[in-house]
Amino acid sequence: MKNYDYLVVGAGLFGAVFAHEAALRGKRVKVIEKRDHIAGNIYTKEIDGIQVHQYGAHIFHTSDKNIWNYINQFAEFNRYTNSPVANYKGHMYNLPFNMNTFSELWGVRTPEEAKAKIQQQKDAAKLSGEPKNLEEQAISLIGTDIYQKLIKGYTEKQWGQKATELPAFIIRRLPVRYTFDNNYFNDTYQGIPIGGYTQIVEKMLDHPEIDVQTDTDFFANKDQYLNDFPKIVFTGMIDQYFEYQLGELEYRSLHFESEELDVDNYQGNAVINYTDAETPYTRIIEHKHFEFGKGDANKTVITREYPANWKRGDEPYYPVNNTKNNTLYKQYAELANKEGNVIFGGRLGQYRYYDMHQVIHAALTTVQKEFAK
Ligand code: FAD
Ligand code: UDP
Repeated sequence: MKNYDYLVVGAGLFGAVFAHEAALRGKRVKVIEKRDHIAGNIYTKEIDGIQVHQYGAHIFHTSDKNIWNYINQFAEFNRYTNSPVANYKGHMYNLPFNMNTFSELWGVRTPEEAKAKIQQQKDAAKLSGEPKNLEEQAISLIGTDIYQKLIKGYTEKQWGQKATELPAFIIRRLPVRYTFDNNYFNDTYQGIPIGGYTQIVEKMLDHPEIDVQTDTDFFANKDQYLNDFPKIVFTGMIDQYFEYQLGELEYRSLHFESEELDVDNYQGNAVINYTDAETPYTRIIEHKHFEFGKGDANKTVITREYPANWKRGDEPYYPVNNTKNNTLYKQYAELANKEGNVIFGGRLGQYRYYDMHQVIHAALTTVQKEFAK
């Protein structure tokens, strides 16, 4: 075996950034990936000339100029602005919650009218003190109508739990705006890489000092890897690494169902959310709209996203960052600190609901610490 300096477990964004930066510093890196492709959950695949986001819609956004410059080394980004539309029982509402939504819902015309309506609903709900859960947080931000129509059903099917049992921070991911602005994010920079995300990870890993091996599960040979490599960067599930010895962390899974259709434009938008409780999926993605219709003019690809419970062996798409799990994670993190030659990183290794820009930030911070020594 070659004399590697690092084994990186997982060819997702965290693993790829770390491997790339280590190679630039003259280190020899082996990357193993259990799936049959690189790029983790940002993997895109071309079908009918359309870049299909295989693991759900991915829109890059950040306010950090360094992160934006960093990712732009690996792809050119278009000017896509995420503006999902909610379908609640056949009625369409703009997202995130903004003057378009308020006016569609209540016929209000000014920010003052919208604020008065929301205040009335908050007063009627008689909330007091800091919001203790997602339901209280949502009502205190935008009142009961929007909570009932656009949040409760979606949230409870997405997470498989009552909104009263979920942490408030999840709903604070969404802006509330008293302007007619349907931009889902507040960030300075936003876009979709022209030609898809996979090329980004391909370029990161394209270095003579990096070897990549897919279809390879770390756990099939854990002891051997620990023995053979001086240092390991692990981006899989931290509780699995420790053989669940302190108990299981909770994850939320998803199931994707894609269809190729002989129509040019199925739903007129990249993302339509189904916010009622009865529709079993949360959203339908029409991929060609991420690149403004690029691809075969007579075809489209759509994907329905179904939330699912997680059990061992399923894909753990989301960490469930409630108090119970965060407390357990901290105990695992203490074990991780004692594991001298293993660095834990990424959405699963750090058990955090990270977006892509946060993963890059976390990976670059790890790189700085590792190579400052
Ligand atoms: P991953 O991409 O999960 O990579 C980890 C890799 O490790 C995987 O490829 C996995 O197969 C591999 N692995 C795990 N265990 C092992 C093992 N034992 N052996 C070998 N390999 C292993 N972020 C945004 O910024 N904007 C968005 O719009 C957005 N939308 C999203 C939509 C969905 C549905 C989801 C699920 C996530 C979304 N994200 C979005 C978040 C984004 O996907 C993550 O921030 C990012 O992909 C995490 O990168 P990572 O490297 O930490 O993890
Ligand atoms: N959410 C909602 N209605 C929507 C969209 C989102 O209630 O139409 C809530 C839901 O709880 C979701 C959270 O807001 O989990 C964060 O939404 P985001 O779009 O950021 O979720 P992600 O893309 O990470 O799944």
